[in-house]
Amino acid sequence: MGNASYDLVVIGAGPGGYVCAIRAAQLGLSVACIEKDPTLGGTCLNVGCIPSKALLESSELFHKANHDFKRHGIEVTPRLDLAKMMARKDKIVEQLTRGIAGLFKKGGITAYTGLGRFVDTGLVEVVDPNGAVSDTLTAAAVVIATGSHPSSLPGITIDGQRIISSTEALSLESPPEHLIVIGAGVIGLELGSVWRRLGSKVTVHQL
Ligand SMILES: Cc1cc2nc3c(=O)[nH]c(=O)nc-3n(C[C@H](O)[C@H](O)[C@H](O)COP(=O)(O)OP(=O)(O)OC[C@H]3O[C@@H](n4cnc5c(N)ncnc54)[C@H](O)[C@@H]3O)c2cc1C
Repeated sequence: MGNASYDLVVIGAGPGGYVCAIRAAQLGLSVACIEKDPTLGGTCLNVGCIPSKALLESSELFHKANHDFKRHGIEVTPRLDLAKMMARKDKIVEQLTRGIAGLFKKGGITAYTGLGRFVDTGLVEVVDPNGAVSDTLTAAAVVIATGSHPSSLPGITIDGQRIISSTEALSLESPPEHLIVIGAGVIGLELGSVWRRLGSKVTVHQL
């Protein structure tokens, strides 16, 4: 178990946390950032903005090849290789999350992998996946940038199989025959568009 002291400890390495950590380091503070997931970048880079945009681009090209090319005098019969499409998306995510790790290294920011939890004011423990405390950090200031997570609806449990969140919708192994999207916000419409373009029937419900 290690003990260390910093001017600033940031809990969470999503866009809120990593930008804060990098800027604080640029301003001369000694900074640590604790992230419970194995990669940096939070929802946005791992299961949000970036993978959704990667799939939107790929699915748009597939849709165009299926529906638009013909009127341009281009005859093609596209075949969906979903595994390859997902691999491209995963590679983009990997490159960008590694980019954050590179920025941390360049900025002299210490990254801790584990769950950050307060023990006292200015005293934060890092808990590893087995529940053991790996490090105890003292900080003059602590920023909580722990983000959010998908919420269920009353009586509906997200089982990750039939009832899924946006996270699973970014990694399906085949286009579902019928995808019902509850919530017609940007995330629902983006992922509905992806799977519609790849062949699913999609119904969007706005509550
Ligand atoms: C499918 C999808 C598409 C999206 N597209 C866009 C878009 O195009 N444009 C846009 O602006 N936004 C988009 N968003 C929203 C965007 O992802 C969030 O607004 C953004 O990630 C919020 O950043 P954050 O740092 O507050 O939280 P998060 O990104 O959620 O990061 C919080 C981090 O804290 C970590 N954490 C939580 N608790 C602890 C703890 N106790 N100890 C250590 N670590 C902890 C989490 O593991 C996580 O990595 C999208 C979201 C989704 C789901």
